[in-house]
Amino acid sequence: MKSSSRPILLNIFKMRCPECGKSNMFINKSIFPLNHVLDMPEHCKECGLKMEPETGFYFGTGYVSYALSLILFFINLVWYWLIFGIHISDNSILYYLVTSISIVIFCQPWIMRISRVIYLSIYVNIKRKKNQQ
Ligand SMILES: [Zn+2]
Repeated sequence: MKSSSRPILLNIFKMRCPECGKSNMFINKSIFPLNHVLDMPEHCKECGLKMEPETGFYFGTGYVSYALSLILFFINLVWYWLIFGIHISDNSILYYLVTSISIVIFCQPWIMRISRVIYLSIYVNIKRKKNQQ
């Protein structure tokens, strides 16, 4: 298998195969229909990488998804603080939480997809380094 010459971060954001960087990791490019948001082909069309190396491989993506959600909460805190300000004396903390939770729930399909791409990328890179030794 030929390794990707594209940067890893570009592959992650474009949701491409971490091995070749050419084909999409998900069957539907769009997140709709939502009940098929995580449907993936069994193998990469270009390089043949198995998209689910073993049963239950993606259970660990919950940790990646959690970390991405926390990062999004922090980004929301920064822009909300700069635009509206957050004070302990009024309800601005409540408004921030409602706004931020809404944004994180809205972004959840993309967070789940990016978590899978990051998880498989980590696995592929570890496997590649093991094979080089
Ligand atoms: Zn591939």
